[in-house]
Amino acid sequence: MSQYPEARFLKSANATKQFVPDTGAEVAVAGRSNAGKSSAINVIVNRRQFARTSKSPGRTQLVNFFELRDEQRLVDLPGYGFARVAAAVRRHWGELLAEYFETRQSLTGLILIVDIRRQLTDFDRQMIAFAESVDLAVHILLTKADKLKKGQAAQAVLDVKKEIAERATVQQFSATKRQGEQEARDVLERFLQGGA
Ligand code: GDP
Repeated sequence: MSQYPEARFLKSANATKQFVPDTGAEVAVAGRSNAGKSSAINVIVNRRQFARTSKSPGRTQLVNFFELRDEQRLVDLPGYGFARVAAAVRRHWGELLAEYFETRQSLTGLILIVDIRRQLTDFDRQMIAFAESVDLAVHILLTKADKLKKGQAAQAVLDVKKEIAERATVQQFSATKRQGEQEARDVLERFLQGGA
């Protein structure tokens, strides 16, 4: 059973003034497009196709708010392949994200979804920098772990840990195999409680 039976999509925002009221607690989930973010969210929330809303046309450059429970939200921050987006759109998206991180009082943590085979991209480093600038706890899910052999996956975790040192926690994850789902959910819950 889902721990979030009442979870639902709230709204997508293209400007700060469209953000939902800044009360309670919310956790942002970010990832470069195709990293496996939607699949990871669906597994963590344990609701098939939950994050699909974020993938619908026009929503891929918006801040997408979901309610998990009363006064507890998950915010899907889609990233895109940088090369595929016009410069003006990219600039707007960058500004919107910067404003989101700077202004959101209810934001208690960032879960960053990274393809374990790709390691950290510039998008991911930017997200970590945004989070650091406001002292936000960061947890990295290295997803698609099933695509690597165990030893390679363990090495990938070490490589990322080496790069980010104490700036974030890191775990392996696989949506396909449902590997690491409880660990990820525990982090989400801890962030929602407001703790680092
Ligand atoms: P998003 O763009 O970051 O939301 O990525 P999606 O969740 O849509 O996943 C992108 C592609 O990767 C899809 O074809 C998924 O089926 C696949 N994928 C996502 N997670 C996993 C995983 O853990 N293992 C494997 N093998 N494939 C995955």
